[in-house]
Amino acid sequence: MVYGILSNENKRLILQRLIVCQILITLRSEEMKHVCDPCGYVYDPAEGDSASGVKPGTAFADLPASWVCPLCGVGKDQFYDVK
Ligand SMILES: [Zn+2]
Repeated sequence: MVYGILSNENKRLILQRLIVCQILITLRSEEMKHVCDPCGYVYDPAEGDSASGVKPGTAFADLPASWVCPLCGVGKDQFYDVK
């Protein structure tokens, strides 16, 4: 652990960055997720759907119309939004 040999100024900067990261993570986690009504599969835009070739960061609205739930195969219209 190199933390101990850092100057107080560096420690302060690192703490600031940690706080910024925490805020960003919090904001991300508040992004809308989409839950499959029949099976409960959760589509998280931050993760995408690698099994279907959907890249991380793909918004639910940007999924192709042909995209279906990877677990039960229903279409996008069967999903509901959650925070
Ligand atoms: Zn499903």
